[in-house]
Amino acid sequence: MTTPIYYPNDIPHIGHAYTTVLADVLARWYRLNGHDVFFLTGTDEHGLKLQRTAEKAGKTPKEFVDSMVPVFKKYWSLLEINYSRFIRTTDPDHEELVKKVFEELYSRGYIYKGKYSGWYCVSCEKFYSEGEYVEQGGQKLCPIHNKPLELVEEETYFLKLSALQEEVTRLIEEGGIVFPEGYAREILSRIKKEGLRDLSVARPKSRVYWGVELPFDRDYVAYVWIDALLNYLTGVGFMRDNNSFEKYWAEAHHIIGKDILWFHSAIWFSVLRMLGLSPPKRLIVHAYIVNRGLKMGKSVGNVVLIDDLVERYKSPDAVRYLLMRLLNLDKDVEFDQSLLDNIYNSELADTYGNLVRRAGVLAMRKLGGRVERAGPDPGLEQLSNSTVEKVGRLMQEVRVSEALSTVLDLLREANGYMNKTQPWSLEDPREPLYNVLEALRIATNLLYPVMPATAESLARAFGFQLRRVDRLAFGQVEAYSVSEAPILFEKVGKA
Ligand SMILES: [Zn+2]
Repeated sequence: MTTPIYYPNDIPHIGHAYTTVLADVLARWYRLNGHDVFFLTGTDEHGLKLQRTAEKAGKTPKEFVDSMVPVFKKYWSLLEINYSRFIRTTDPDHEELVKKVFEELYSRGYIYKGKYSGWYCVSCEKFYSEGEYVEQGGQKLCPIHNKPLELVEEETYFLKLSALQEEVTRLIEEGGIVFPEGYAREILSRIKKEGLRDLSVARPKSRVYWGVELPFDRDYVAYVWIDALLNYLTGVGFMRDNNSFEKYWAEAHHIIGKDILWFHSAIWFSVLRMLGLSPPKRLIVHAYIVNRGLKMGKSVGNVVLIDDLVERYKSPDAVRYLLMRLLNLDKDVEFDQSLLDNIYNSELADTYGNLVRRAGVLAMRKLGGRVERAGPDPGLEQLSNSTVEKVGRLMQEVRVSEALSTVLDLLREANGYMNKTQPWSLEDPREPLYNVLEALRIATNLLYPVMPATAESLARAFGFQLRRVDRLAFGQVEAYSVSEAPILFEKVGKA
């Protein structure tokens, strides 16, 4: 399971968190189901953009990225991102791999020298052709950054992508890799329209010194995008640890935002093909959380910080939950604080948190915390078991937001059952409490990938164990020993 590696030119915001939390949720989901998951994230540290950011900060590029990596790690630890490796493109094993791969592609005849002239956006680290850039007052502007493009003319090395056009088209047409399907169609129509053109994959050191030197020409460094994509191979041990590579690569799942789809499909699949490797198993693409209609970015000035959300909801788990409730692979979702407040209050505080608190307090007060198995309520039993099955199906299709809503339906039903059976007024409330606790346990188990700390602390407070989802069923706990009735989520007021 991979995230893109991020430019450490600034602190990560909720746009980064959106992708990273999704990858972590999927990694946890598969681990919870007994899979051995290698989860890779990291930073993309080379290139002109970082070179210039560092210069502005009065540091060398290496000093600059060294200062930013702990910041990323701090945020990922705050958000409980449980990665297996944090890869940096300045890691020695990665730089070595980039050289080996360039050597390999060069010797196989996929790289050749040529002349290049084009309009370049430093912030995107990419060239724009006619029709792609915006013309305004005689200037050519980046369509994303709205900044003037630089005319770059130089000798360079090209990667012969054109040779792979048919093969890559067929691969994407066969379906199943690019997910959801709509993104595959987008790529196919772009290939059809403009073809898969050879790509400049080297930069002269005279202009860009901050990169991996090409093994066959020391006056050039590797284009940062190819350098970055190769992290997926370094991370699982390509050309270094064959066992690991064979085991994980065949199952590779890349999680990306839609802005980097072209690089991760047309270009990446071609590079893999040139190296004789299979494409990733799945490329999972999501749309953005936008703010005032635009993708979040420093230059746009519409960034929402991770700190702001953690501070507001006082719980990293709640932030993960809210981000995943917004998750939409196909469509952009507008960031809306009052919508988030509503979801948080009604779903986490009033429904989940409230049920935990009520059931916990009653179990301790009425039964001294010990709640033994009692006759299952057929309605709750049936709904719990069908929820397990339905959530499994939804997660397989990365419909995380719907999976959360499905769990919430179960919790609402359990709240209703509690109101109906009124265990607080009964002499012996064992039966209704046991049923409520079972529904809560099933829901908590299913929420674990999204809210791991909450699930683990509740499992401890109520005395149950989290299980593999395929072994999760209503009525399987013999007795609860409730030792605590935590208040999981405090309501928030108006912003
Ligand atoms: Zn740009």
